[in-house]
Amino acid sequence: MSEQQLSFQAEVSRLLDIVANALYSNKEIFLRELISNASDACDKLRYAAITMPELIAESPEFRIDLIVDAKAKTLTVADNGIGMNREDLVDNLGTIARSGTAAFMSELGSKEDGANLIGQFGVGFYSAFMVADRVEVESRKAGDGQGWRWTSDGKGAFAIGESDNAPARGTRIVLHIKGDQEEFLDPTRIRHVVKTYSDHIAIPIKLSETKKAVDGAEQDDGDGSINRASALWARPKSEITDEQYNEFYHHVGHGFDTPWLRLHFRAEGKIEYTGLLFVPSAKPFDLFHPDRKNHLKLYVRRVFITDDCPEILPHYLRFLRGVIDTEDLPLNISRELLQHNPMLAKIRAAICKRVIGELKKQAEKDPEGYGGFWDNFGPVLKEGIYEDQDHRDDLLALARFQVVGENGAIADKPTSLADYVARMKDGQEEIYYISGENPEALAKSPQLEGFTAKGVEVLVLSDPVDDFWLSMVPEFEGKPLKSVTRGDADLSKIAKGGGDSEEEEDNKADDSAPDVSALVAYVKLALKDQVKDVRSSERLTNSAVCLVAGEGDMDLHLERMLKQHKQLDQASQRVLEINPKHAMIQRLAARIGADGAGTELEDMAFLLLDQAKILEGEPLQDAAAFANRLSKVMEKGLA
Ligand code: ADP
Ligand code: MG
Repeated sequence: MSEQQLSFQAEVSRLLDIVANALYSNKEIFLRELISNASDACDKLRYAAITMPELIAESPEFRIDLIVDAKAKTLTVADNGIGMNREDLVDNLGTIARSGTAAFMSELGSKEDGANLIGQFGVGFYSAFMVADRVEVESRKAGDGQGWRWTSDGKGAFAIGESDNAPARGTRIVLHIKGDQEEFLDPTRIRHVVKTYSDHIAIPIKLSETKKAVDGAEQDDGDGSINRASALWARPKSEITDEQYNEFYHHVGHGFDTPWLRLHFRAEGKIEYTGLLFVPSAKPFDLFHPDRKNHLKLYVRRVFITDDCPEILPHYLRFLRGVIDTEDLPLNISRELLQHNPMLAKIRAAICKRVIGELKKQAEKDPEGYGGFWDNFGPVLKEGIYEDQDHRDDLLALARFQVVGENGAIADKPTSLADYVARMKDGQEEIYYISGENPEALAKSPQLEGFTAKGVEVLVLSDPVDDFWLSMVPEFEGKPLKSVTRGDADLSKIAKGGGDSEEEEDNKADDSAPDVSALVAYVKLALKDQVKDVRSSERLTNSAVCLVAGEGDMDLHLERMLKQHKQLDQASQRVLEINPKHAMIQRLAARIGADGAGTELEDMAFLLLDQAKILEGEPLQDAAAFANRLSKVMEKGLA
């Protein structure tokens, strides 16, 4: 029997180093991980056997065995599930294949303290090395003749070779327990650990002890299972504790936080199914990875079918984890049939409705918790506003937005659209927003000034998805959504908030804003086709100039984004707005009246446009010409 020595993937070695040396106090979770794998292996085989019943013909009952050998100081975890062939062993137990472990490693990248993270993420199979200094895995894939043996001390390498001793089917994992971890050779302790973490496992778990009798025979402790061995989601809610729910979430969802929200429901009637869904409280690191699978497992009458079933959930609910178990699909349903299955489409629609309804409830009941949820998953949920016409209004109502209020800063609390509308000023007909990448920078945009001065709130939209759904949502509750960087800002009809005397004075000043029409006409002439239009502005109070998109043109940020993604090759021209109340503008206007136009004034016209572009983060057409003009003006100023 030849054995081959192979190295672990470098990341695995690093992980094992942390795991083996971690002063982590909860080492007992290794058992949860191994039992979880054993249960998954049984689920997989049960599914495979639907089309190939011969795979389980010899022993149709699934089971997980825990065997303590106090004398040999080993704990064995054995299952009669799908098993692993040579390739599986090398791939699964030699690399980091699974998402939970990958999450652990990516989180670890930035931190030194791996031990704490082990509990948060779980490190799957490798956690065995927390309690064992040597691990032997013997496995035979269901239907295969050849069995395999994998062994390692967790220090950089593992050995793999053929085995004559592998189970008839499935996997036997023998842990050689470390000297200081002998508590895990105590059946009472093990029973307790299983009760704590693995009671929800639907496969019976049996515990037995090997006592080396004189004749070497094994002695069993009886064969009752030490867990409930029934599907957790099928049990009545009243019989399930929070801890059991959470452990189930860890097992099924590979999530290691405490879920924020749980939905356990049974639908009866035309379609029958049970759902146990969780919303995590922590944001998974791969939420925006394009190849991320959803974490909802599909069962049919308690038989695991697939954990890769995009049809059962819309993409924008991909943060959900858990199980859907239906009575109404055939067990031997194929991938192709799942894809266009009308039953599944109905279940999906019903899940959407239920989840959205529950989120709505939470938003009312627990605004703070909901705020945390929104921070984590809002950008994902917003994809639904774009994608899911049926639930667009519901999702809009669930959405929360940052908002710039009267003090010109982003408010601490995000707002819903309904609350925004409720706070709208007298005469305000539109919901104003500004979109872009950086919320702090957006809050300082000159285009906001006039709104802030009047106490009109402006939503700050800085998620990449915002521009997409905005294009689908012209209004909310009859109020049009309008970008403050687009079209005319008619703020004259909006009453100023408060109404104390100081503000009234301000209003008078507004009315007597100086006439800059000659300047506007002059600048327009000077800039020719560099701009679409030049006009006196209502939206500026501090800055001298800003750029906006013309009425009917695309919002500035949207246009920039489309250009970046090469979806648009021609930029539309901007409107240059001039602040008639700005001291510099007033002087310029006076100069026009006095001497007419010289080249000096023409330079200034260009400088107005260039500074508006700089404020907007748009490239200057001719940076050298800009520098030249600026120098000339500075030289004059210093003279
Ligand atoms: P995860 O369970 O999240 O995939 P683990 O580190 O726990 O990650 O296990 C890695 C992989 O090893 C599993 O995905 C599975 O393919 C394989 N594996 C582990 N234990 C068993 C087992 N008892 N039977 C069959 N395959 C197993
Ligand atoms: Mg696992």
